[in-house]
Amino acid sequence: MTLAPAVPALERELRVFNPATGEVVGSVTVASPGDVEAAVARARVAQARWAARPIGERAVLLRRYHDRVLDRTDDILDTIQKESGKARRDALLDVLTVAGTARYYATRGRRFLRPTHAGPAVFGITSAEVVYKPHGVVGIISPWNFPFLLAVGDALPALLAGNAVVLKPSELTPLSADLSRALLLECGLDPDLFQVVHGRGDVGAELVRHVDYVGFTGGTATGRKIAVAAAERLIPYSLELGGKNPMIVLDGAPIEHAAMGLIAGAFNNTGQTCISIERVYVQDGVYDAFARAAADRVRKLKLGYSLQFDLDMGSLISEAHAAKVIGHIDDAVAHGAEVLAGGHRRPDLGPAFVEPTLLAGVAPGMKIFREETFGPVVALHRVRDADEAVRLANDTEYGLNASVWGGNGREVREVSRRLETGSTGINSTLLIYHSFDVPMGGVKASGIGRRHGRQGILRYTQAQSIVRSTALLGGYESLLVRTTTQRWARGLVGLFRLWRRIPGLR
Ligand code: NDP
Repeated sequence: MTLAPAVPALERELRVFNPATGEVVGSVTVASPGDVEAAVARARVAQARWAARPIGERAVLLRRYHDRVLDRTDDILDTIQKESGKARRDALLDVLTVAGTARYYATRGRRFLRPTHAGPAVFGITSAEVVYKPHGVVGIISPWNFPFLLAVGDALPALLAGNAVVLKPSELTPLSADLSRALLLECGLDPDLFQVVHGRGDVGAELVRHVDYVGFTGGTATGRKIAVAAAERLIPYSLELGGKNPMIVLDGAPIEHAAMGLIAGAFNNTGQTCISIERVYVQDGVYDAFARAAADRVRKLKLGYSLQFDLDMGSLISEAHAAKVIGHIDDAVAHGAEVLAGGHRRPDLGPAFVEPTLLAGVAPGMKIFREETFGPVVALHRVRDADEAVRLANDTEYGLNASVWGGNGREVREVSRRLETGSTGINSTLLIYHSFDVPMGGVKASGIGRRHGRQGILRYTQAQSIVRSTALLGGYESLLVRTTTQRWARGLVGLFRLWRRIPGLR
């Protein structure tokens, strides 16, 4: 084991701030490379015992966690809010999604992990099955935007599949991650099966050096580096990365409902959601009405920091992030974009507040046209028809989520299928996140791999195929070994010819 150099205690302290107020709200200890290695080693020992337990026992943990998380809702909301500055309503999404994930996999996980029978190579003398084995130790690197949900939500199916988890949460929101672990331990989980290593600068990379699988949620640039590091070690990975998610509003769409969908889709979590809407393509016939309805709603949003459910939108995660977001707005305005609502930073409310902002006239050359803003800013674009909307929506390096609204159900479905995204919501912007039974993830630069559904748990396993032949008369191999004459070979070829023509055996 590598011994970490002695580091003074103060240098190993990571202070946590409330970005809404600037106050220090806690601190955690930074892990050294040796700490990370030791955590993975302990996890490995515990994992072998855990994987040997019946899956029913592992599912009990998820059921208990579901109840515990809901019982402790208020504590969790307080913790999330104090280190993220988000609105209480947005923090509630963290809680409900974790509970939903625990419920879903506690109920369905066993079925997904059951060995599956597969078609035999040679009917009558062979059989086949697939068993799903845990990778071992899963490393999860989670971001700050949903600090409770993304710390533990992806860990739950990993644990159920028989893995141990070592989590590296964002250095901006480590307290929610610690709380997610404390609640797991209260439910009876062996402490070595879910460990948290904190840090900033090199702890994530160190974790990737030791684990057997890595799951990352965050920016595309970091995702690429993790993919390279995982490729060097030949370990599997999944990446849920950025997005520049489009919404399409076609003639005949219910304008008020679509405007409400946009408000949720663009400003939920202060726009810091991987699936949030940043671009809206509105067909000419409904553009003016939609722009008016959306701007009215944006102006009415209440911004601030409150531990009650009385505000619509909270702070951004940091002053640096607020500077990036306002930079996108200012750059767009300087190049001719029009502000339909919002558009300002709000230092009177706190160090990292930016108004919910609706823009029009955003054009190529402006930063906001292509770059992910990851903040409460959305651009409206007028389009002639559905074809133009689809072309512009797909004109991006990203491909995470999209939303389509219209009056003609068939057209809406057809448009949805033409979008190059991992998911599309019809008459909804955020629904995919609570659709636990379908895979969720990105295409293009938005990532690789899926969470949720069958794929969301099987990604934490290796498929092992067990194929069996009868031993009688040499079984399968005898078919090969006996091919010593032209006649036998012709017989085999003839059998293959016949095979394709026998229903039920093909
Ligand atoms: P990043 O996406 O860059 O990720 C930071 C995390 O990754 C930290 O925990 C860091 O740990 C770890 N990390 C960094 N480099 C490596 C590496 N080479 N190997 C392993 N781990 C590594 O976060 P930012 O907060 O800077 O966000 C950047 C942008 O990403 C945002 O502006 C936003 O656009 C997007 N984003 C997307 C999210 C989503 O949900 N898809 C969530 C959050 C952000 P350490 O410090 O120890 O290296």
